[in-house]
Amino acid sequence: MIKQLLCKVSGHKLELTHQDSLHIKEFTCQCCKKEFTEDGYGKLVGLNKFWRDNHSKFREYLQEQYS
Ligand SMILES: [Zn+2]
Repeated sequence: MIKQLLCKVSGHKLELTHQDSLHIKEFTCQCCKKEFTEDGYGKLVGLNKFWRDNHSKFREYLQEQYS
């Protein structure tokens, strides 16, 4: 709870945990362990089911392109 409050005050301490091409970036906050990603506009959004599905579709698409 205190950690989440810290993130609210000073912002998340994001670490890039995964990157596929230039388009898929996944971050984890080292403080509260919450996961984030960037939407199509480079805006930071929570990594929820919608984005996980989106990313896996995009990865499949990339594999088709380069295989
Ligand atoms: Zn955080």
